[in-house]
Amino acid sequence: MPLKPVRVRFAPSPTGPLHIGGLRTAIYNYLYAKKHGGEFILRIEDTDRKRYVQGAEDYIIRALEWMNIPFDEGPGKETNNASYRQSERSTIYKTYIKQLLDNGKAYIAFDSSESLDTHRKEHELKGKTFIYNWHNRNKLDNSLNLSKEEVSKRLEKNVPYVVRFLSPDSKKLVLHDVIRGTMEIDSSLLDDKILFKSDGMPTYHLANVVDDHLMEISHVIRGEEWLPSLALHILLYEAFAWDPPIFAHLPLILKPEGKGKLSKRDGAKGGFPVFPLAWEDSIGYKEEGYFPDALLNYLSLLGWNPGTDQEIFNKQQLISLFELERVHKAGARFDPEKTKWYNHEYLQHRTPAELTQAFLPILQSQIKETRVFNPSVTSSPKYIETTLILLKERATFVKDFWPLGEFFYHTPESYNEKAVRKRWKPNTNLLLKDLNSEFERVEDFSANHLEELTKNWITKKEYSFGEVMPPLRLAIVGDLKGPHLFDIMSVIGKEETIRRINMAIDKL
Ligand code: GLU
Repeated sequence: MPLKPVRVRFAPSPTGPLHIGGLRTAIYNYLYAKKHGGEFILRIEDTDRKRYVQGAEDYIIRALEWMNIPFDEGPGKETNNASYRQSERSTIYKTYIKQLLDNGKAYIAFDSSESLDTHRKEHELKGKTFIYNWHNRNKLDNSLNLSKEEVSKRLEKNVPYVVRFLSPDSKKLVLHDVIRGTMEIDSSLLDDKILFKSDGMPTYHLANVVDDHLMEISHVIRGEEWLPSLALHILLYEAFAWDPPIFAHLPLILKPEGKGKLSKRDGAKGGFPVFPLAWEDSIGYKEEGYFPDALLNYLSLLGWNPGTDQEIFNKQQLISLFELERVHKAGARFDPEKTKWYNHEYLQHRTPAELTQAFLPILQSQIKETRVFNPSVTSSPKYIETTLILLKERATFVKDFWPLGEFFYHTPESYNEKAVRKRWKPNTNLLLKDLNSEFERVEDFSANHLEELTKNWITKKEYSFGEVMPPLRLAIVGDLKGPHLFDIMSVIGKEETIRRINMAIDKL
């Protein structure tokens, strides 16, 4: 059990919709917080106004809501009146950048992008890489080399500047990560990163570290792409004389083929969503028909598992089992087929009433009044439930129920031609007429009884099952698909069964 109260944050930049990888980061933060009775915080890192995308913050919030991983603090859930949007916290960062400047941990640099470009090119010509750090900071246009008066004069004249971190020259840094263990880094390899710009906005690094400190974040759980920033962040904590949080960098989510990071293009190519909710012209998991708890289960196990073969875990189980120490170092291959498998599994465990409720709007949009038989019966929840119980084994999504079971509502209008050619023999009409008169005499229209009666009749008449069953299915369903035929007959009832057999005899 961690000593400090657990407070974790999900800190997306609103530069677009939340991607599957970002969503998994949010999930791991949520699971960790809830396991330890801690707080899960949403912080919007929107200081880079050039990359800001309208609607992205709202999207992120809706996505977390849909996934049922609510944040405890964040936009709209403020404590102490402090904003959780970095763009609204700029005065805070100004105080802290001043502190670094005053303590000599940072300096002001006036180099224009043109002059930096020239330096870069000159270095390249010599086969070297230009790094703005101890190598050459003493030769560049910054407050380390200019007089105090000159710096003040330029600031008064609003000459554009940035504030850079003064990276120590040769310090052995020992970095700890819960997932990756201990890493050693030589600080002389680091550049003097920009922390603040003259537009009054901090860069990611400063705002991130200041906020993690002020928000009393105990554990920073974030994507592996931020691992290269860890050394700078640790140095910033040192510069402020703050205790750093515990860090855990999550593995990448890889393409289905296994190599490279999963991208939006992979989704388009493979026909699977990479966003939880629809965004512009990309469909989301929600719209595709995924259950949020199935997606939560799948994504939770993408890079972590509790060490057993079990695959189905509800949210409470995930919370109680989750351990950062068991998160894998290696990238996790995304498997779109597995997401479907999960949805299928979760669908099997939904109650008939839940499935009916979810299916009703689809049914209502698909059903054609002119074709529906016995509407007073087929529109009743009880009837719908019965059909869904028969179909669900074959369904991955609720929307599958319609193509899988249209015949429970509509009398077939046409018949699978290929199947008719193969299965409808010269004697089929006569045979079905004969069988139909047996059905007319039946009182007990239960599936068991129908099955027994049909089997006995086939034996008595010395027919083969192949002569009888496929044409009978064609007459009832219009195709050779569907659940157990006698179940279907029993559900649609005696009158409709007899009518369908007569119709098929007339038409075929
Ligand atoms: N704003 C960063 C992002 O978009 C957050 C990184 C972090 O969690 O420190 O991923």
